[in-house]
Amino acid sequence: MILLTFEREGRLRLGIKTPEGVLDVAAAQSALALDDIPATPDALFRQGSSALAALSALAAGATGKPHLYRDEAELQLGPCVPNPGKIICIGLNYRPHAAEADMPVPAYPILFSKFGNAIAASGEPVPLPANAVEYDYEVELAVVMGRRARYVGREEALEYVLGYCCANDLSTRDLQFRTDQWLLGKSQDKFLPIGPYLVTAQEVGDPQNLTLRLWVNGELRQHATTAEMIFPVSEIISYISQHFTLEPGDIIATGTPEGVVLGMKEKVWLKPGDEVEAEVEGLGRLTNRMVAEHR
Ligand code: ZN
Repeated sequence: MILLTFEREGRLRLGIKTPEGVLDVAAAQSALALDDIPATPDALFRQGSSALAALSALAAGATGKPHLYRDEAELQLGPCVPNPGKIICIGLNYRPHAAEADMPVPAYPILFSKFGNAIAASGEPVPLPANAVEYDYEVELAVVMGRRARYVGREEALEYVLGYCCANDLSTRDLQFRTDQWLLGKSQDKFLPIGPYLVTAQEVGDPQNLTLRLWVNGELRQHATTAEMIFPVSEIISYISQHFTLEPGDIIATGTPEGVVLGMKEKVWLKPGDEVEAEVEGLGRLTNRMVAEHR
């Protein structure tokens, strides 16, 4: 299943992308009078993977009822996970990126975080804060957790995933490297656009066989595959779960490959007006324009 959120009457509603259009989950639930359907994005992520069977049944029951569908082109999409729990990011998870950043290949996954203020939707403008200069992009595969995970083994770790989406881990390098802790340069408002879609784990299959690409104003800057990760998704989930509990709706951004501005000889940082498109194979293309901050 391909899930998304969209705005209607000032709220984000849950949608399922289908060949017939975007199924409005709340409208379909009341029309079909089905119980136990998570009708809002928050209800879905509270419930996690166990909600997917009910959503799938709803989608099956709605086929042939065109009034329950909306034209995606007319929708303003929201972030595919509007209110995540934890947002955990993995640093230097691709060897060529560690090399371009002039940093050693990590022996353990490097964990840092972003906060909920950083979440943005595809199509949403991203304000570049005036008190920084070195704005950079990072295309990443993001994992959305579907079950509570604690002390999970690597072999079973992927069973805890609800789905995957594309993320752009925007960064201000001057603030990131001001101190040893990267947080300051990572969690600016809207500095983690995600989406446009959340594709369920079952539909994605193997998360280590996906092409990642990123363009700035149409110029290809990053092009790699998740097969190159140093710590694959299963190992990341297992490792984190040895140390603290992961919950449904938590997001893990699994690191970026090479091609960021930081790694270039001549560094031309992002600036207002730039359009950044990020794509993970099968998960849709995430598009955001950088704009000047209005204080
Ligand atoms: Zn990153």
